[in-house]
Amino acid sequence: MYEIHEECGVFGVYSQENRNVAHTCYYGLFALQHRGQESAGIPVSFADKISYYKGMGLVADVFGGGNLDILPEGDIAIGHVRYSTTGASQLLNAQPVVFTGKCGKMAVAHNGNLINTKQLRDEMIAQNAVFQTTIDSEVIAVVINSLSDGDILKGVKRACSKFKGSYALVLMTGDKLIAVRDPFGIRPLCIGTTESDVIVASETCALDAVNANFLRDVKPGEIVVVDSEGIHSEFMNEIPAESKMCIFEYVYFARHDSVLDGYSVYEARKEAGKLLARNYPIEADLVSGVPDSANVAARGYAEESGIPFVEALAKNRYVGRTFIQPDQRQRENSLSVKMNALRSNIRGKRVIIIDDSIVRGTTMKKIVKMLRDAGASEVHIRICSPIIKHPCNLGIDIQTYSQLIGAYKNEEQICECLGADSVRYLSVEQLLSTCKKAHTNFCLGCFNGDYPYPLDEYETDKLKFE
Ligand code: SF4
Repeated sequence: MYEIHEECGVFGVYSQENRNVAHTCYYGLFALQHRGQESAGIPVSFADKISYYKGMGLVADVFGGGNLDILPEGDIAIGHVRYSTTGASQLLNAQPVVFTGKCGKMAVAHNGNLINTKQLRDEMIAQNAVFQTTIDSEVIAVVINSLSDGDILKGVKRACSKFKGSYALVLMTGDKLIAVRDPFGIRPLCIGTTESDVIVASETCALDAVNANFLRDVKPGEIVVVDSEGIHSEFMNEIPAESKMCIFEYVYFARHDSVLDGYSVYEARKEAGKLLARNYPIEADLVSGVPDSANVAARGYAEESGIPFVEALAKNRYVGRTFIQPDQRQRENSLSVKMNALRSNIRGKRVIIIDDSIVRGTTMKKIVKMLRDAGASEVHIRICSPIIKHPCNLGIDIQTYSQLIGAYKNEEQICECLGADSVRYLSVEQLLSTCKKAHTNFCLGCFNGDYPYPLDEYETDKLKFE
């Protein structure tokens, strides 16, 4: 079963007290688990040392069995959950990257994807740098270190002028927690506070998990430093006039209880469902969402259309994303383990099924068959985003055109391929209107090919049809 995956989630805590900051990170990462299930890691700073633990798997598995308690008390900690889009899924590539450099002990956690990693890596190797991993986050760490002259803030500022791509970074040294959002603000990053702590996290749901109050979002191009003097911020030298946050954060990646750049993900999804009902109505007996990400939109569709929301599919909540098998045959077989049709709700009924997006189409084709096998008399698909026509090079694993059914088929052909009675997508303009209350503009690259960064030859080559 194919699902789009976000690359990572990041978290950081700076405490005025010397305490078990790793526990705060653990809860934060737990709330960000949806952003990456392959590995997790937490380094803690104490007495000018950094102690860390990383492992493969879910946060609870990595830090279970006493592994969380081996981390010492300290005043700064950062955390990371990973889904790999660059670099293999193995322990060596687990983040945060921890190293000793010109600024002493440091750790770096990254969400996003640099598109000029190869060039930066080659430059660094030419200057005698050595690399242990294949991840772009190590390149980020090495570039920051090499340009720092012993001043971490100088290193971050200089390095950011060389980075091309998406990056929400959380860094720590012996005495500072630093949060950085790329100049377009492609990936989300926010700041919260408790009485004694400053927290930074990919999403507000992680602030809620540690009882922190939301302070504000990190602005595109902003470098936020937290140290003994409090929170202070600087901006990178070149910040584009327009931000370009990934609109897929609202469509699928973020948790629906998060608020990104001032706008609720829940509201955006509900509005998407309502717009589908208003613009692409169809007579039916029930409307349902593909669980869990499309349920909010399905309720929006039901509310607007007056067609009852009824669960058509039950999800096995104990099958994590790590269960997903890498090859196509196993992937298709895995759907029936992960999801099942609720026959008594569906039999003889005209069903509208809502989903957030369609990538390959293999999962949706199976769902249509599952609904028909369970007795649905009609199956109408409504999608809360436009047709994905282009790959993403900014931190999402839709990396080549050949992975996309929408790259070479129109709505009618997709409908035929999926075996549905009708398929309708939101248009780009309609999707934008669902997010108009957000304090940002959006990247729409996978829908219209207009990426924040123009693609160079190397990148174009990477994205080609396989
Ligand atoms: S190309 Fe699509 S998935 Fe990638 S950052 Fe832009 S909107 Fe997000």
